[in-house]
Amino acid sequence: MDVQQLFKNLKKEAECPLCLETVKEPKTLPCLHSFCLNCLDKHAGYARRRRETKIKCPVCLTDFNIPKSDTFFDFPTSFHLNRFVDVLALNDSDAETQTCSSCDDTSVVTSYCFVCQSLLCAACFEAHQRLKATRGHRNVFIEKLQAKDVEELMHRPAMCTQKYHQNEALEYYCQDCKVSVCVKCGFVSHNGHAMVDIEEAAIDCKNKISEVVKKVKFQVAVLERQMKRQTELMNKSMAEIYDAQAKVTKTVDELVKILREH
Ligand SMILES: [Zn+2]
Ligand SMILES: [Zn+2]
Ligand SMILES: [Zn+2]
Ligand SMILES: [Zn+2]
Ligand SMILES: [Zn+2]
Ligand SMILES: [Zn+2]
Repeated sequence: MDVQQLFKNLKKEAECPLCLETVKEPKTLPCLHSFCLNCLDKHAGYARRRRETKIKCPVCLTDFNIPKSDTFFDFPTSFHLNRFVDVLALNDSDAETQTCSSCDDTSVVTSYCFVCQSLLCAACFEAHQRLKATRGHRNVFIEKLQAKDVEELMHRPAMCTQKYHQNEALEYYCQDCKVSVCVKCGFVSHNGHAMVDIEEAAIDCKNKISEVVKKVKFQVAVLERQMKRQTELMNKSMAEIYDAQAKVTKTVDELVKILREH
């Protein structure tokens, strides 16, 4: 697949179903559909004006209570979509260009190092090439991105969004708070909490989801069987009703005929 097609597909995936733009501050509802924070808040605002306390997910129509704070700010951020958005920004000259993650200057990113998994500005790239330790790293210039580079970029770890943690990957999952955290978060705000490796948490979660899917599939099969049986019963009843009606009509006709003869 050529890289522009790949970017096009990404753009489609990162589209907010409400505003049809690339999603901004994506928040995920419990049904796992994601929207811009602003779009969700607006959606809730309309519902509030109609004196409703619930909104329906615009995609799957599941009901949710509108948060008391009237904002979905506290809902989980979609790191998955944010990554799409980050990668898309590399290809979009109109988007706010990404700034270097390796230095404190707000310089524009020009390349990416696959080994450090970070975006570099021109100055940092030069320094990267000078230092013995990083000289051999595989880099790519953003303007020369190939489809396979983009795929690889998609799989780089998600970064922590907390202040001062922007260079830390989300490597752990706090089971007490049910959030993904970085090493720093672990020390600062989740001390003593039950933490597992994020990969392990993901596998665990996948297994749970498969389990639920299996149960639901079974339920669906049971219900389908029941529905079929009910439909058959209904058809039988209908046939009997028609029969009875026909019989009644016939008897009445006969009676009328006898009466006429009398
Ligand atoms: Zn939106
Ligand atoms: Zn939904
Ligand atoms: Zn830099
Ligand atoms: Zn590097
Ligand atoms: Zn953190
Ligand atoms: Zn915690």
